[in-house]
Amino acid sequence: MKKQLKIYDLVFSGFGASSCILINQLHKKNELHKKRILILDPSEKKTNDKTFCFWANPNDDIVVDHQEIVTHSWSKVWIDEALTSNIAPLKYHHISSEGLYNKTRKVLKNYDVTFCNETVEKIEEDEVVRIWTSESNYMAHLVFDSRPPKIKTPLSEKQNIWQSFLGYKVKLNNSVLDEDTCTLMDFNVVQDGATQFVYVLPYSTNEALIELTRFGKEKIDVEMAENALKNYINQHYGAFEVKQVERGMIPMFLDMPRSNQSKRIVPIGTRAHMVKPSTGYAFKNMYEHAKSLSTQPGKSKQRKPSSLRFKFYDRLLIYILAVWPKMGKPIFSRLFGSKSLSFILKFLDENTSMKEDIGMFSKLQIGTFLKAVLYLFIEKAKNQILLFAPLMLYGIMHLILPDYAELSLYALIAIGLFLVGIPHGAMDHKTGLFSDNKKINLSFIFKYLGVMLMAYLVWLISPTVALVTFILYSAWHFGETDIQEWKMNSRLIGFLWGLLMFSALFFSHVSELNVILKALHVQQLPPELPWLGLFFWSLILSFLLARLHGSIPWFLLTCFLALSYWLPLVMAFAIYFVFHHSWSGWKHLRTSFKESNWSLFKTALPFNLGALILFVVLFLNIGMGWDYNMAQIFIFISCISLPHILSMSYFYKKLKTKRV
Ligand SMILES: Cc1cc2nc3c(=O)[nH]c(=O)nc-3n(C[C@H](O)[C@H](O)[C@H](O)COP(=O)(O)OP(=O)(O)OC[C@H]3O[C@@H](n4cnc5c(N)ncnc54)[C@H](O)[C@@H]3O)c2cc1C
Repeated sequence: MKKQLKIYDLVFSGFGASSCILINQLHKKNELHKKRILILDPSEKKTNDKTFCFWANPNDDIVVDHQEIVTHSWSKVWIDEALTSNIAPLKYHHISSEGLYNKTRKVLKNYDVTFCNETVEKIEEDEVVRIWTSESNYMAHLVFDSRPPKIKTPLSEKQNIWQSFLGYKVKLNNSVLDEDTCTLMDFNVVQDGATQFVYVLPYSTNEALIELTRFGKEKIDVEMAENALKNYINQHYGAFEVKQVERGMIPMFLDMPRSNQSKRIVPIGTRAHMVKPSTGYAFKNMYEHAKSLSTQPGKSKQRKPSSLRFKFYDRLLIYILAVWPKMGKPIFSRLFGSKSLSFILKFLDENTSMKEDIGMFSKLQIGTFLKAVLYLFIEKAKNQILLFAPLMLYGIMHLILPDYAELSLYALIAIGLFLVGIPHGAMDHKTGLFSDNKKINLSFIFKYLGVMLMAYLVWLISPTVALVTFILYSAWHFGETDIQEWKMNSRLIGFLWGLLMFSALFFSHVSELNVILKALHVQQLPPELPWLGLFFWSLILSFLLARLHGSIPWFLLTCFLALSYWLPLVMAFAIYFVFHHSWSGWKHLRTSFKESNWSLFKTALPFNLGALILFVVLFLNIGMGWDYNMAQIFIFISCISLPHILSMSYFYKKLKTKRV
């Protein structure tokens, strides 16, 4: 029977580590008072399913806030072949998940809380947030969602690996453990085609958690792990009895799936990318995130994100472990042999300076790291190869057959226009904006021509207004396509990039631009003004934005804009349009419609031929002179662009909502 619909102030979808940490912080800040709270988790969370450890100073907030459940704190750490290190003033602290869940339950006894052992299936937001579970549905003002993100297996991306482990809580027959010293990584175990090590947390002289951990694309093989663990324990500590088994998997992912996020649906924990990819540690990040959320629940949603530098290091290490898994053991061994553990922990906390980082990397297998940098660069930049290929052709032709250099490039552009340039704009009926059934029918044609006509009327009334509007909507469109390609979210940033692209192109070619402006009867730019300065500023701003967003493709496109200074205006724009913009748009359509290149090309062919005929008719009207023809073609392009741009904007908006 369906339960009655209820509205809660706060809903926790999942009652794991991140929810518990957050609830405790909200309690501390008195944010749970008079709130109706609902907790949904299919599991009772009454067993000790995880062990959480983190390093911190005993006076740090994170330790003080969890004081009563920190069951062990080690000040000495053994790591690989290096000597035992005293990490003072830091300590390596231990919390059992059971302790955390129980502490949180105790806190919740002070409030109006409903626990339901239900699986959340869907969370959506309209006027309120709606939550569908296996058995019921609920409404809430604010939801903290910690359901594990859905991850496709097997992993195809080179940027992602798993940390998987099998651990035994053991009681040893002999009291041989040093209870003041934990072992973070002992690589003296079988590597099994990945990076594997043993982790030992001694609770007393004869009790410990001993885990075999694997960093790799494939998860740990249980049979292999059991054998390796038993051998290790027997060899190092003698006979033992297994009291409890701990198994787990942590995604060490650079490309975590994006989850639904808004002011009222706030992802937390692993779902909110709190796991540091290169280590699998998340507890400290979840704590910092909880602190910021509890200050203004539903407002401050982000912990301080990792800087680009540390994200890049994470990416490098994950890439190496994914592609050359055998390098893991030698890299870690050399790292622990050459740097103090206190330094390494500072580095993992992302508190080292760039100078210190360079010093550290110089002691490691620098060749492997440089190779990884190169491969990552090629992987990021490979989509831009198409953009630079015409430039290379132009350069080579200049060297061998200079008289044909321009001609051969225009021929290449014409082929590109025919293959993707025009076809990418001939799929507008399929986006559904002007055609409900996504087919070309009379209504589609009328609406499409209607929008074109509106644009044309503006040209008749005021060419200046028409031109400025054309540049603005084109900048929006090019930017929108590029941010989709670069997997960015802000359409405003896309628009800014589109404007920068036009300003760089125009201000580096003012005399050519003036020829077009004259033909269009638009006021020309005074040639004496310092346009080149604006060109440089556009480039600098574009480089800075590319750096801010850590985007190699954006950086390369800006390099292309810089090089375009040496090309004719029309040629530079045509290369960008055909070999970057149209190809990107084509790929987005092809992936979204799940069609092959050939089938899309066939759909576009009638328009392609139509456009060619129209082009010939318009352009071969030689009686009216070159300027007249150029202006007509320009106006025609601007008119036909408007419905296409509206159509593609609608398409990208739909893509975005499908993605979240
Ligand atoms: C075994 C293990 C040991 C770890 N040790 C450490 C460590 O020592 N230090 C460290 O910093 N990090 C550690 N981590 C990493 C990280 O801290 C933990 O994974 C942590 O539990 C992440 O918190 P979370 O809230 O995102 O996920 P969880 O704690 O897993 O909580 C998610 C909750 O969502 C519930 N749930 C699942 N599906 C649904 C659904 N559809 N609807 C409602 N609820 C659902 C689950 O039952 C669970 O209770 C460890 C991870 C594992 C797996």
